[in-house]
Amino acid sequence: MPELPEVETICRGLAQHCVGATVLSVFVHRPGFIRGGSNQSRLFSGLTIARIVRHGKQFVLESNCGRVMLFHMGMSGSVTIHPFQSLRAPHVHIHWTLTQNGNKFELHHKDPRRFGYVHTYDNMSLVHKNAWSKLGPDALVISTEELFERLKNRRCAIKAALLNQSIVAGVGNIYADESLFQSQIHPLRKAHSITLRELAELNHKIQSILKQSIRGGGSTIQNHADALGRAGTFQDAHKVYGRGGEPCVSCGAILKHVLCAQRSTVFCSHCQLKKAR
Ligand SMILES: [Zn+2]
Repeated sequence: MPELPEVETICRGLAQHCVGATVLSVFVHRPGFIRGGSNQSRLFSGLTIARIVRHGKQFVLESNCGRVMLFHMGMSGSVTIHPFQSLRAPHVHIHWTLTQNGNKFELHHKDPRRFGYVHTYDNMSLVHKNAWSKLGPDALVISTEELFERLKNRRCAIKAALLNQSIVAGVGNIYADESLFQSQIHPLRKAHSITLRELAELNHKIQSILKQSIRGGGSTIQNHADALGRAGTFQDAHKVYGRGGEPCVSCGAILKHVLCAQRSTVFCSHCQLKKAR
């Protein structure tokens, strides 16, 4: 599933190519993919893209008249730029034709597993009042004090709390496992038992790993690609995610595999402690 760095990578590419571009036409190949009204003109037909805003794993394209398209990327969503009249790959559910400085190009929204969608809103404040009101602060900017406040009464595992988008938005399975490993915190520790000092380190690791991944174009495990269709490279830097049964890069112990919040969780039982240090 695209997490914060993968979605940020897509947004940066789209911002470079699409801001200032005008939408000439929209083709909806699978109408079930649109929420908030299926009228094609609501999908920016005739409008110009003014800016792109991301929060957690979601982002919006905002038009010059204030109308907004929110992209939920589901398990396998991508939004990529293609030459005008190029062949559509399978599973492209919506495509837009845009023009900028006399050049025409296309935007393809593809989602093979179909858990994603595009939701239209009349303005940005409706996004904040609806879709984003259920999300916690963005993981790249949340302060340690705020994260501590949000975790101090949670009796669930810290891994489950990090995956809960209403606590902090943007962290998924990959970056939860990687940041808990680098902070030496056991994924099944109760969230409320993490001390402020430990949390300061965890928050620092989360934010630095997310930033490193963004610099690497995100992690491509199955189908993440940036706006130009290029794979990310951060998967090569994963220390625990997807490495259950292999030796720990730090101590050599065999990495363990447990299920937490229905997600596969990999950790080192030697490096990651169940008790506060
Ligand atoms: Zn270890």
